[in-house]
Amino acid sequence: MPEGHTVHRIAKRFQRDFLGSKVSISSPQGRFTDASLVSGRVLTKADAWGKQLFLHFDEIAIRIHLGIYGKWRFTAGDTPEVTGQIRARFQLPGITADLRGPTACEVIDKAGIKGVQSRLGPDPLRPDRKGLERERFISKLTSRKTAVGQQLMDQSVIAGIGNVYRAELLFRSLINPHTPGNLLPLELADQIWEDSVTLMPIGVRTGLMLTREGHLKGRPKLVDRYYVYKREGQPCRECGHEVSLELMATRKLYYCARCQK
Ligand SMILES: [Zn+2]
Repeated sequence: MPEGHTVHRIAKRFQRDFLGSKVSISSPQGRFTDASLVSGRVLTKADAWGKQLFLHFDEIAIRIHLGIYGKWRFTAGDTPEVTGQIRARFQLPGITADLRGPTACEVIDKAGIKGVQSRLGPDPLRPDRKGLERERFISKLTSRKTAVGQQLMDQSVIAGIGNVYRAELLFRSLINPHTPGNLLPLELADQIWEDSVTLMPIGVRTGLMLTREGHLKGRPKLVDRYYVYKREGQPCRECGHEVSLELMATRKLYYCARCQK
Protein backbone atom coordinates (compact mmCIF):
# COMPACT_ATOMS: atom_id res chain seq x y z
CA MET A 1 0.00 0.00 0.00
CA PRO A 2 1.37 3.46 -0.88
CA GLU A 3 2.42 5.54 2.11
CA GLY A 4 1.74 9.26 2.49
CA HIS A 5 4.73 10.48 0.50
CA THR A 6 3.29 8.88 -2.69
CA VAL A 7 -0.01 10.69 -2.25
CA HIS A 8 1.74 14.02 -1.63
CA ARG A 9 3.71 13.46 -4.85
CA ILE A 10 0.46 12.99 -6.77
CA ALA A 11 -0.98 16.15 -5.19
CA LYS A 12 2.09 18.09 -6.32
CA ARG A 13 1.73 16.65 -9.81
CA PHE A 14 -1.88 17.85 -10.00
CA GLN A 15 -0.85 21.26 -8.66
CA ARG A 16 1.79 21.52 -11.35
CA ASP A 17 -0.12 20.15 -14.33
CA PHE A 18 -3.83 20.83 -13.70
CA LEU A 19 -4.14 23.78 -11.31
CA GLY A 20 -6.27 26.69 -12.53
CA SER A 21 -7.55 24.84 -15.58
CA LYS A 22 -10.93 23.44 -16.49
CA VAL A 23 -10.36 19.72 -16.19
CA SER A 24 -12.24 17.24 -18.29
CA ILE A 25 -13.17 14.29 -16.07
CA SER A 26 -14.71 11.02 -17.16
CA SER A 27 -15.09 7.47 -15.94
CA PRO A 28 -14.33 5.09 -18.81
CA GLN A 29 -15.22 2.17 -16.54
CA GLY A 30 -18.42 3.89 -15.44
CA ARG A 31 -18.10 3.36 -11.69
CA PHE A 32 -17.25 6.97 -10.87
CA THR A 33 -20.79 8.11 -11.51
CA ASP A 34 -20.20 11.63 -10.15
CA ALA A 35 -17.62 12.43 -12.84
CA SER A 36 -20.13 14.61 -14.71
CA LEU A 37 -20.70 16.70 -11.54
CA VAL A 38 -17.10 17.91 -11.59
CA SER A 39 -16.08 17.68 -15.23
CA GLY A 40 -15.32 21.06 -16.79
CA ARG A 41 -14.71 22.78 -13.47
CA VAL A 42 -11.50 24.59 -12.56
CA LEU A 43 -9.13 22.75 -10.23
CA THR A 44 -8.54 25.20 -7.38
CA LYS A 45 -6.25 23.07 -5.20
CA ALA A 46 -4.79 19.58 -4.97
CA ASP A 47 -4.03 18.58 -1.46
CA ALA A 48 -2.93 15.43 0.37
CA TRP A 49 -3.60 14.50 3.96
CA GLY A 50 -2.00 11.22 4.94
CA LYS A 51 -3.08 8.68 2.35
CA GLN A 52 -6.07 10.73 1.16
CA LEU A 53 -5.96 12.96 -1.89
CA PHE A 54 -8.36 15.89 -2.24
CA LEU A 55 -8.87 17.53 -5.63
CA HIS A 56 -10.73 20.75 -4.91
CA PHE A 57 -13.10 22.41 -7.36
CA ASP A 58 -14.28 25.42 -5.35
CA GLU A 59 -17.05 24.21 -3.06
CA ILE A 60 -16.68 20.52 -3.78
CA ALA A 61 -13.82 18.06 -3.95
CA ILE A 62 -13.00 14.61 -5.19
CA ARG A 63 -11.64 12.43 -2.40
CA ILE A 64 -9.38 9.60 -3.50
CA HIS A 65 -7.87 6.79 -1.46
CA LEU A 66 -5.74 4.32 -3.38
CA GLY A 67 -6.05 1.46 -0.90
CA ILE A 68 -3.92 -1.56 -1.76
CA TYR A 69 -4.49 -1.79 -5.50
CA GLY A 70 -5.02 1.80 -6.60
CA LYS A 71 -2.65 3.27 -9.16
CA TRP A 72 -2.14 6.49 -11.12
CA ARG A 73 -0.72 6.82 -14.58
CA PHE A 74 0.14 10.19 -16.12
CA THR A 75 0.60 10.38 -19.89
CA ALA A 76 1.90 13.41 -21.76
CA GLY A 77 0.94 14.05 -25.37
CA ASP A 78 -1.83 12.26 -27.22
CA THR A 79 -4.73 10.73 -25.32
CA PRO A 80 -3.85 7.14 -24.49
CA GLU A 81 -6.24 4.38 -25.46
CA VAL A 82 -8.56 3.15 -22.75
CA THR A 83 -7.22 -0.16 -21.50
CA GLY A 84 -8.31 -2.04 -18.39
CA GLN A 85 -10.53 -0.57 -15.72
CA ILE A 86 -10.03 3.19 -15.59
CA ARG A 87 -12.15 4.53 -12.74
CA ALA A 88 -11.42 8.17 -13.49
CA ARG A 89 -9.66 9.99 -16.29
CA PHE A 90 -8.51 13.61 -15.80
CA GLN A 91 -7.58 15.50 -18.93
CA LEU A 92 -6.21 18.76 -20.22
CA PRO A 93 -4.88 19.19 -23.73
CA GLY A 94 -1.57 17.30 -23.75
CA ILE A 95 -1.91 15.52 -20.40
CA THR A 96 -3.99 12.64 -19.12
CA ALA A 97 -4.08 11.21 -15.60
CA ASP A 98 -5.72 7.81 -15.26
CA LEU A 99 -6.80 6.36 -11.93
CA ARG A 100 -7.28 2.62 -11.59
CA GLY A 101 -8.45 0.46 -8.68
CA PRO A 102 -8.86 2.97 -5.82
CA THR A 103 -10.85 2.04 -2.72
CA ALA A 104 -12.42 5.51 -2.76
CA CYS A 105 -13.10 8.04 -5.49
CA GLU A 106 -16.06 10.20 -4.60
CA VAL A 107 -17.32 13.76 -4.79
CA ILE A 108 -17.86 15.38 -1.40
CA ASP A 109 -18.93 18.84 -0.30
CA LYS A 110 -17.34 21.12 2.30
CA ALA A 111 -19.00 19.33 5.21
CA GLY A 112 -17.82 16.01 3.78
CA ILE A 113 -14.24 17.26 3.49
CA LYS A 114 -14.35 18.53 7.06
CA GLY A 115 -15.78 15.23 8.27
CA VAL A 116 -13.04 13.16 6.66
CA GLN A 117 -10.23 15.47 7.74
CA SER A 118 -11.43 15.71 11.33
CA ARG A 119 -10.95 11.96 11.65
CA LEU A 120 -7.38 12.09 10.36
CA GLY A 121 -4.43 12.46 12.67
CA PRO A 122 -1.57 14.90 12.11
CA ASP A 123 0.34 14.45 8.85
CA PRO A 124 4.10 15.12 9.17
CA LEU A 125 4.13 16.31 5.55
CA ARG A 126 1.64 19.11 6.15
CA PRO A 127 2.75 22.56 7.32
CA ASP A 128 2.79 22.92 11.09
CA ARG A 129 4.22 26.36 11.79
CA LYS A 130 2.90 26.65 15.32
CA GLY A 131 3.77 23.08 16.27
CA LEU A 132 0.14 22.27 17.12
CA GLU A 133 0.11 19.11 15.01
CA ARG A 134 3.29 17.93 16.69
CA GLU A 135 1.63 18.42 20.08
CA ARG A 136 -1.53 16.68 18.91
CA PHE A 137 0.53 13.65 17.81
CA ILE A 138 2.51 13.46 21.05
CA SER A 139 -0.59 13.74 23.18
CA LYS A 140 -2.50 11.09 21.20
CA LEU A 141 0.38 8.62 21.12
CA THR A 142 1.19 8.89 24.81
CA SER A 143 -2.35 8.94 26.18
CA ARG A 144 -3.29 5.37 25.21
CA LYS A 145 -2.07 2.02 26.45
CA THR A 146 -2.05 0.60 22.91
CA ALA A 147 1.41 -0.46 21.73
CA VAL A 148 3.31 2.31 19.97
CA GLY A 149 3.95 0.02 16.97
CA GLN A 150 0.22 -0.46 16.53
CA GLN A 151 -0.64 3.21 17.02
CA LEU A 152 1.76 4.34 14.28
CA MET A 153 -0.40 2.41 11.81
CA ASP A 154 -3.54 4.17 13.04
CA GLN A 155 -4.35 7.03 10.65
CA SER A 156 -6.13 8.92 13.43
CA VAL A 157 -2.89 9.03 15.45
CA ILE A 158 -0.55 9.92 12.58
CA ALA A 159 -1.65 10.14 8.96
CA GLY A 160 0.41 8.79 6.09
CA ILE A 161 2.61 6.27 7.91
CA GLY A 162 2.51 2.70 6.62
CA ASN A 163 4.42 -0.46 7.33
CA VAL A 164 7.81 0.68 6.01
CA TYR A 165 8.01 4.01 7.82
CA ARG A 166 6.55 2.44 10.97
CA ALA A 167 9.33 -0.15 11.19
CA GLU A 168 12.11 2.24 10.24
CA LEU A 169 11.04 5.14 12.48
CA LEU A 170 10.89 2.87 15.51
CA PHE A 171 14.30 1.41 14.74
CA ARG A 172 15.86 4.83 14.24
CA SER A 173 14.61 5.93 17.64
CA LEU A 174 15.50 2.57 19.25
CA ILE A 175 11.95 2.11 20.52
CA ASN A 176 10.47 -1.33 21.14
CA PRO A 177 7.23 -1.50 19.11
CA HIS A 178 5.45 -3.18 22.03
CA THR A 179 5.97 -0.22 24.36
CA PRO A 180 2.55 0.94 25.60
CA GLY A 181 1.93 4.49 24.40
CA ASN A 182 1.31 5.81 27.90
CA LEU A 183 4.72 4.53 29.03
CA LEU A 184 6.63 6.14 26.18
CA PRO A 185 8.63 9.15 27.38
CA LEU A 186 7.39 12.39 25.79
CA GLU A 187 10.80 13.15 24.33
CA LEU A 188 10.75 9.85 22.41
CA ALA A 189 7.28 10.60 21.04
CA ASP A 190 8.63 13.99 19.99
CA GLN A 191 11.61 12.27 18.39
CA ILE A 192 9.35 10.02 16.27
CA TRP A 193 7.51 13.11 15.01
CA GLU A 194 10.71 15.02 14.33
CA ASP A 195 12.19 12.05 12.50
CA SER A 196 9.09 11.59 10.33
CA VAL A 197 9.24 15.30 9.47
CA THR A 198 12.84 14.71 8.36
CA LEU A 199 12.36 11.45 6.48
CA MET A 200 9.05 11.79 4.69
CA PRO A 201 9.98 14.83 2.56
CA ILE A 202 12.86 12.73 1.19
CA GLY A 203 10.16 10.28 0.07
CA VAL A 204 8.19 13.09 -1.57
CA ARG A 205 11.30 14.38 -3.33
CA THR A 206 12.71 11.06 -4.53
CA GLY A 207 9.69 8.78 -4.58
CA LEU A 208 11.69 6.33 -2.45
CA MET A 209 11.41 5.61 1.25
CA LEU A 210 15.04 6.29 2.10
CA THR A 211 15.44 5.74 5.80
CA ARG A 212 19.20 5.20 5.93
CA GLU A 213 19.98 8.74 4.84
CA GLY A 214 23.51 9.65 5.73
CA HIS A 215 24.68 6.14 4.86
CA LEU A 216 23.57 5.85 1.26
CA LYS A 217 23.68 8.07 -1.79
CA GLY A 218 21.56 8.09 -4.96
CA ARG A 219 19.11 5.25 -5.54
CA PRO A 220 20.23 2.40 -3.31
CA LYS A 221 19.17 -1.17 -4.13
CA LEU A 222 16.14 -2.47 -2.29
CA VAL A 223 18.28 -4.84 -0.16
CA ASP A 224 20.33 -1.90 1.14
CA ARG A 225 17.52 0.55 1.65
CA TYR A 226 16.15 -0.28 5.08
CA TYR A 227 17.36 -0.99 8.61
CA VAL A 228 14.80 -3.65 9.50
CA TYR A 229 11.88 -3.65 7.03
CA LYS A 230 11.69 -7.04 5.24
CA ARG A 231 15.06 -8.01 6.76
CA GLU A 232 13.75 -10.74 9.08
CA GLY A 233 16.35 -13.37 9.95
CA GLN A 234 19.20 -11.19 8.70
CA PRO A 235 21.74 -9.56 11.01
CA CYS A 236 20.81 -6.13 12.35
CA ARG A 237 22.94 -3.47 10.64
CA GLU A 238 23.87 -1.99 14.01
CA CYS A 239 24.31 -4.93 16.40
CA GLY A 240 24.29 -8.13 14.29
CA HIS A 241 21.34 -9.67 16.19
CA GLU A 242 18.73 -11.37 13.99
CA VAL A 243 15.97 -9.01 12.85
CA SER A 244 12.59 -10.23 14.16
CA LEU A 245 9.34 -10.61 12.28
CA GLU A 246 5.98 -10.94 13.99
CA LEU A 247 2.39 -10.01 13.38
CA MET A 248 1.01 -6.97 15.15
CA ALA A 249 -2.68 -6.33 14.50
CA THR A 250 -2.46 -8.51 11.35
CA ARG A 251 0.39 -6.48 9.82
CA LYS A 252 3.99 -7.65 9.60
CA LEU A 253 6.22 -5.96 12.10
CA TYR A 254 10.01 -5.92 11.74
CA TYR A 255 12.38 -4.87 14.51
CA CYS A 256 15.63 -5.65 16.30
CA ALA A 257 14.86 -6.99 19.76
CA ARG A 258 18.37 -6.12 20.95
CA CYS A 259 18.60 -2.51 19.72
CA GLN A 260 14.95 -1.69 20.38
CA LYS A 261 14.61 -2.44 24.08
ZN1 LIG B 1 20.20 -4.41 16.49
